[in-house]
Amino acid sequence: MKVGFIGLGNMGKPMALNLMNACHDVNGFDTVAVDAEGLCIVESATEAAKDADVVITMLPNGAILRSVAKAVLRSMSSDTVFLDCSTVDVDSARAVAQMATEASVIPLDAPVSGGVGGASAGTLTFMVGGSKDGFEKAKPLFDIMGQKAVHCGPSGNGQAAKICNNMILGATMIVTCEAFALADKLGLDRQSMFDVVSTSSGYSWTLNAYCPAPGIGPTSPSDNGYRPGFASDLMLKDLRLSQQAAEMADADTPMGQMAEQLYAQFVETEDGEGKDFSAMLLRFETRGRS
Ligand code: NAD
Repeated sequence: MKVGFIGLGNMGKPMALNLMNACHDVNGFDTVAVDAEGLCIVESATEAAKDADVVITMLPNGAILRSVAKAVLRSMSSDTVFLDCSTVDVDSARAVAQMATEASVIPLDAPVSGGVGGASAGTLTFMVGGSKDGFEKAKPLFDIMGQKAVHCGPSGNGQAAKICNNMILGATMIVTCEAFALADKLGLDRQSMFDVVSTSSGYSWTLNAYCPAPGIGPTSPSDNGYRPGFASDLMLKDLRLSQQAAEMADADTPMGQMAEQLYAQFVETEDGEGKDFSAMLLRFETRGRS
């Protein structure tokens, strides 16, 4: 396929390289200079989109996505696919889908989980909103860039799935860190706590697969000085999107709201910025109740 790839940052570039290495014809564009590693880099987003069967975007936020979509949709042919893999607000995803449909282009919102490691290894999970037909058209690309793609329903539902997942992830990580700090204070050693909880009803992905306590469980960012991994700043972004969506939908999400507040504090007024989201354990280790 001829693919236009817009946004060649930490995630976009390795995804584009995987498509190129699988013999797709990729034209990439970014607003900053990119070390291309063999990718064909063009001068503008519209040039990347011209004659493309699929345009993929991997951008920082909904406002930038809207402006890129506005610029490129008019240069795309009918029945081609506009595939946004960024994490953005549900409103922007649905607005861009409407713009695409009006331009006779098939919209898909397909945010990912798996991080930079998954983008490089081609093992991302895609959560996809949009038509079943569009999903089938993009499936060969999902199969190269990822290991799993789930069709979640109409436009915006990919973003909805992503923020629900990450709201669970953020809140679960916080309570996992709290539990380790409580265990410390009760004189329960961390390995014993892990051995019990990882095989009991308190188990979770954050404990079993991504343990925030260094030296416990499988290797995770905590064993690497809390270098991300999945940065606290990105977790805060996703928690904010979840609360924005909850406001819009009038959903009561007290745990999600508390998780957002704690990550905001951690990133903005403590020293969480740039650290993995499991570094939350550091803030609980040293605190008392007040
Ligand atoms: P990044 O900041 O490394 O990359 C974004 C790229 O978009 C940058 O290179 C930037 O120059 C480019 N860009 C900005 N405006 C542009 C424009 N108008 N036209 C073309 N390019 C433009 O971010 P990232 O880590 O690659 O994340 C991309 C998206 O994926 C975000 O929405 C993020 O939330 C999501 N995501 C990231 C991770 C992760 O672990 N990094 C995991 C899952 C999802």
